[in-house]
Amino acid sequence: MVTSLSDAKVPSALKHNPALAAVTNPYGNQASSQIALSIVIPIYNEVDTLPHLIKRVEQGVADYPDRYEIICVDDGSQDGSTDLLRQLAANHNHLQAIILRRNYGQTAAMAAGFENAQGQVIVTLDGDLQNDPQDILPLLAKLSEGYDLVSGWRKNRQDAALTRLLPSKIANFIIGKVTGVKLHDYGCSLKAYRAELVADMKLYGELHRFLPALAFIEGAKVTEVAVRHHARKHGKSKYGLGRTFRVLMDLFTVSFMKTFLTRPMHVFGSLGMASIGAGSVLGLYLGFVRIVLQQGIGDRPLLLLAVVLFLAGVQLFCVGLLAELLMRTYHESQNKPIYRVRERVGGRLI
Ligand code: UDP
Ligand code: MG
Repeated sequence: MVTSLSDAKVPSALKHNPALAAVTNPYGNQASSQIALSIVIPIYNEVDTLPHLIKRVEQGVADYPDRYEIICVDDGSQDGSTDLLRQLAANHNHLQAIILRRNYGQTAAMAAGFENAQGQVIVTLDGDLQNDPQDILPLLAKLSEGYDLVSGWRKNRQDAALTRLLPSKIANFIIGKVTGVKLHDYGCSLKAYRAELVADMKLYGELHRFLPALAFIEGAKVTEVAVRHHARKHGKSKYGLGRTFRVLMDLFTVSFMKTFLTRPMHVFGSLGMASIGAGSVLGLYLGFVRIVLQQGIGDRPLLLLAVVLFLAGVQLFCVGLLAELLMRTYHESQNKPIYRVRERVGGRLI
C-alpha cells in the first residue's frame, strides 16, 4: 500500500522524522517503485492465526509511506497452514509465501525469508501474533535515528513464568555478559534490521536470536524498544525448557566467533608461545641440573611437565595456523544455503 507522508494517521515520530524518509525511501519523498520494507514471518503450524496475522500486519503498516512486502515462510507445517498460505498469497498482493520442503526450524525459516527479501529494511516477527504488528512502525522510527538493528523488548512478557520467563531471564543475563551487547530481551522475534546487515550473515542452530550480538561484533549500531507482547490465542508454542540449553550452546559458538574468528593466531599463537616458553625454561633448568650439577633428572616430575608444556605449545601453535586457514575458508567460501525452497507462491506486486 502506498500512502503519502502527509497522511493524518502517520505517527508523529514518523512524520517529523526526515531520517525515516532516508530509511524507507532513499529516493526522497516520492514513493519509489522498489520495495522499501520486507516483513519476514516464519510459520509452523499456525493455521488458526494466519488469517488474523496477515490482516493485523497489513493494518500495522497501513500508514507506512512506501512499498512493502510480507514474506511468510512456511517451515514444513502439517496442519493445513501451507494450503491456507497459498490461498492468502493469491488474494493479498503484498504477500509472498515461501514453502520449505520440511521443518527446518525457526532460524532457517527466517534465513529463507532474509534471502528472498527485497526491502532495504527488514522486520521480523512471530507468526502467532504474540508480537503486535502495531509496533512495527515505532521500530522503524527508531531505526531511522541511525541504528542498524532495533530489537523489541517484551517488557510485559505473556508466557509461562517457570518454564519460559525464568530460563529466559537467566539466558539474557549470560548472553549480555558474554557478548557485551546490552539488551534486555534477546529472544524477541520482533526486530528491525537494515537489509545489508543480514545480507551476508549465515544463520545456524538457534542463532537468529544472536543477530544483535553478531551484528554488534560486525560493528553495527544496536538498540532496543519496548514492545507489546500477547499470550498465544491459537495453536501452541513449539518450544519448552530444552531450548534454553540449545540457546546456551549457541552462545558458546557466538562467544567463540567473537574471540577467535578474525585473528585465531593471536589467541592460539600466544598461548602456544607461552607454553613453549615455559617448557623451554624448565628444560634449561633441568639441563643445568643434569650437566652442571651432575644430578640425575630421569625420575623428576618436572621433566614430564617440561615435555608436556613444550609439546602442548607446539600443538596450540599448529591449531592456530589451522584455525587461520579455516577462518579464511569460512569467510570466503560460504555460498551454501541451509534450506531448500520447494515452491514460491504469489508476490506479484502491482
Ligand atoms: N516456528 C517455525 N519453525 C519451527 C518452530 C517455530 O517457523 O520449527 C515459528 C512459529 O510458527 C512462530 C515462531 O517461529 O511463528 C515462534 O515460535 P513459537 O511461538 O512456538 O515460540 P515462542 O513464542 O513460544 O518462543
Ligand atoms: Mg510465540
